[in-house]
Amino acid sequence: MREVSYLTSELVKYPSVSMEPFLNSKGIKEASVFIASWLKENDVKVQVLDLDNGWPSIIAGATDPKILLLGHFDVVPPGDEKAWNFPPFSGEIENGKVMGRGSNDMKGGVAVFMELLKEYPNQLGMFLSPDEEVGSLHSTSIYVNKIKPSLVLVSEPSGSTNLVVGEKGMIIARINIAGKTAHGSLPWRGESSLTNLLNSLEKLKNMLSNMSVKIPEPLREAYNNSQRIFGEDTIKITISVGVLSSGTVPTMVPDHSTAKLDIRIPHGVDINYVSELIREMGFEVEFSTEPNYYLGKWEELFLKSAREVGKNLVEVIDPADNDGRLFRARNIPSLCYGPGNEFNSHVYNEFVEESELENTLNVYTHFIKGAISEVN
Ligand SMILES: [Zn+2]
Repeated sequence: MREVSYLTSELVKYPSVSMEPFLNSKGIKEASVFIASWLKENDVKVQVLDLDNGWPSIIAGATDPKILLLGHFDVVPPGDEKAWNFPPFSGEIENGKVMGRGSNDMKGGVAVFMELLKEYPNQLGMFLSPDEEVGSLHSTSIYVNKIKPSLVLVSEPSGSTNLVVGEKGMIIARINIAGKTAHGSLPWRGESSLTNLLNSLEKLKNMLSNMSVKIPEPLREAYNNSQRIFGEDTIKITISVGVLSSGTVPTMVPDHSTAKLDIRIPHGVDINYVSELIREMGFEVEFSTEPNYYLGKWEELFLKSAREVGKNLVEVIDPADNDGRLFRARNIPSLCYGPGNEFNSHVYNEFVEESELENTLNVYTHFIKGAISEVN
């Protein structure tokens, strides 16, 4: 068995779920201890650092590195465990696949970076967040102000032929609607909060889908590639209602309804303007990220290095975001390339191909050689 597969499998065995109400602080803590011990055993300098409130981040490798490897070791909850064909945290390796929650997003990528760091412990730095799936507020958002590398590399699942140069922006919004209860046989005497909520969602959808989107010229090609890979709608503002709760029993007209939404915004749309419009319609904005991108010498060098090891990559915009954007917002170039792909993240029966782990490690190893001489 390949070392990087084995390491991925070991990482998957820790149920490091960061999302309330499924938060598993013990799983997160134990995963951080495992990562730190592995690095120590391989003579890599490492610190488990509590940047905020019991959230252990991993800082490893060179102090003040010029090249920073960035990732996260938390995962989303498994959801309905009966829907899985195998236990979600078993980390089984079968038919060339490492299986389990987090294998694709992004413990495979973390394993690749750990192996890479083992080869270049004094030239590379690594930062791993324990709370990326909930916004990295206790980790990367703080760490980004303490360091100024020349390049940040992220190994979130990109698809083996894609180099991510930017991501769509995101707004997490919620709406609470109150109504007036009445007997279910006399609905006209009450006011259904659910009916009003559904109307608000419909209005929001109409408004956002009618907004014009002007993709900046340098990103046209990347968006074209993304549309081919992810679907036509990648270029649009999208809304997904992830949480909807309402009412008490069928025979009462509901007087309280709540929805939580995930809205993704392409480049060229003013996210502050969108947030303002959403607020005016009665929604609260809980969290938002502005879309940004990087094109330049590092991206050219990455494409060239990959070609040299037989991989023809295309530039894409990722519909999902990663923490590289926090660095780009401070004018630090960030690129994302990692094993697995977006279709396999946050789903049942998550897996990553062993060949993808090998391939990614191979591309990075070749790229890093050139990049190290570039920064020195
Ligand atoms: Zn991820």
